[in-house]
Amino acid sequence: MNKFLLSLVIPVYEEEKLIYKNIMKIKEILETSDIPYEFIIIDDGSTDNTWNELKRLSKEIKSLQAIKFSKNFGKEAALCAGLDMVSGDGAIVMDADLQHPPEIIPKMVKLWQTDGYDVVDGVKESRGRESIFNFLTAGLFYKLLKKSSGINLKNASDYKLLDIKVIKAWRSMPERDTFFRAMSFWVGFNRTIIKFSVAKRTDGQSKWSFITLFKLAVTAITSFSAVPLHIVTFIGIIFLIGSLGLGIHTLYMKFSGIAVDGFTTVILLLLILGSALMISLGIIGIYISRIYEEVKRRPRYIVSEEINKEDK
Ligand code: UDP
Ligand code: MG
Repeated sequence: MNKFLLSLVIPVYEEEKLIYKNIMKIKEILETSDIPYEFIIIDDGSTDNTWNELKRLSKEIKSLQAIKFSKNFGKEAALCAGLDMVSGDGAIVMDADLQHPPEIIPKMVKLWQTDGYDVVDGVKESRGRESIFNFLTAGLFYKLLKKSSGINLKNASDYKLLDIKVIKAWRSMPERDTFFRAMSFWVGFNRTIIKFSVAKRTDGQSKWSFITLFKLAVTAITSFSAVPLHIVTFIGIIFLIGSLGLGIHTLYMKFSGIAVDGFTTVILLLLILGSALMISLGIIGIYISRIYEEVKRRPRYIVSEEINKEDK
């Protein structure tokens, strides 16, 4: 194998309990497999002791760089920051809670260095323990995304190895609101998958609420597909056809002098039309708000503190 440098991009948010242990474990695996590495850790505005733990880690690990966000910008922003900092030949993006098992890193590196793949996608063989509600909503989201944009993310994860070529392509995408999983798929390149089973979280708890997941789902669908907007037009056409029929019927009744009843029809029409219009406006509104967010051109994240490799 040629000499190369692998960056490990790890977003962390309020993980004081597990971060030290877990990074040390990943480091050990990298060292036993003789993989040249650097750690790029992004503290996503934690308010607990995570940043101090990272400082403690940086004394142990010479190649560790970390930045701290000025507030919680979310995992997507943290991944953007991490990928912006990669200076090596490729990077592995993974969670800090060891739900992405580090034991498969050597295999991923082999697929990259020996077999020449540019992207190694971690695919979940089992989704680990989760609630029925999570399981069902995730299933519905993947179906919608696939139907509307053609991107199949079922069982996809954020655990990936990306060659520097791919990272450069990623950096050329300017949008503010990102969805790592789908965008790293959209860029293409020579890719392969590696299966893994999601381990149990080592400590602490998952930071995703239904609301944050729902927002992510809306971002994902609206940034990869305009199908919902076309559905609005489609609903309009259906109503137009319906109204032609009903219009003819109403006029016929009027001219035959029997036009009084039909109250039910009026109410029903009002209700149906009203809801169709509201939903349509809502969908258009979502797209407009996405455009608004993008044209503001705000930075994706703001850094408040740094730990550099060179400082030591
Ligand atoms: N995370 C983050 N910012 C957030 C929420 C989470 O950087 O606002 C990190 C978190 O520290 C972890 C990874 O993203 O390293 C995955 O988070 P979590 O384990 O809570 O999610 P789950 O495994 O339930 O999808
Ligand atoms: Mg997790």
